[in-house]
Amino acid sequence: NKPIIYAITPTYARPVQKAELTRLSHVFRLVPNLFWVIVEDADETSALVRNLVNRAMLSQRCVLLNAKTPTNFKLSKRDPHWSKPRGVEQRNEALKWIRKKIKHEPGHSIVYFMDDDNSYSTELFEEMSKIERMRVGVWPVGLVGAMKVEKPIVENDKVVGFNSVWRPERPFPIDMAGFAISSDLFEANPSAQFNYEVEKGYQESEILRQVTTREKLQPIASNQILVWHTRTEASKMDNEIKLGKKGLPPSDEGM
Ligand code: UDP
Ligand code: MN
Repeated sequence: NKPIIYAITPTYARPVQKAELTRLSHVFRLVPNLFWVIVEDADETSALVRNLVNRAMLSQRCVLLNAKTPTNFKLSKRDPHWSKPRGVEQRNEALKWIRKKIKHEPGHSIVYFMDDDNSYSTELFEEMSKIERMRVGVWPVGLVGAMKVEKPIVENDKVVGFNSVWRPERPFPIDMAGFAISSDLFEANPSAQFNYEVEKGYQESEILRQVTTREKLQPIASNQILVWHTRTEASKMDNEIKLGKKGLPPSDEGM
């Protein structure tokens, strides 16, 4: 009997969105104990996302939420992608929803922060299901921190350090894709959440320091890479814009 894994995915409208979410939805179809908490960065939920989860037959184990990033924190096209925190508003909205949900459905479950553009192996969720109550599981992440793999250093089944080179002085120098949290830690720490006023690269440390310590981390799949921090290139839309100027409809109209 596997625990439910609540996977929190912030997502926002852009040309690659449907491709990203289609790829993710097919991972969900293969992993029955995953529950998808999608949080759109928008004033309301969209037909695109709703139709996509319906077509993937995931509506029974999915909730569609929305939480718009305040304009002063929103990345613009000209900002470098790391200059502002991403996903703060959305992940906090999801945590609110999960706290209510687990109050009514007690039992062991797990919370994972799952970006819409990373690459996930279904095996990751097998491993994640081993996370114990009141603990945080950690594992290697591929293609992040300007390395092939960033990973916890494990001795005698304990995390004794991390191999990160970028800002290794962080309390938890790992990527968002590299850990998941037993949901009872969110009940035990009812105010734990993400914050905007946090230095670049410290979002992971921010949430983790509120629910655990390095000594309590549970190493998982220590010798495997089961998730990659891939990033999708923004597609060129020059010809789409030309079509628009001629008064023609967008090329994906009605698809
Ligand atoms: N995201 C969002 N609104 C934004 C930018 C990003 O909801 O304005 C989401 C995005 O879809 C992803 C997560 O936040 O699921 C992390 O963003 P991104 O993948 O761009 O960050 P990176 O991987 O580069 O740190
Ligand atoms: Mn990403």
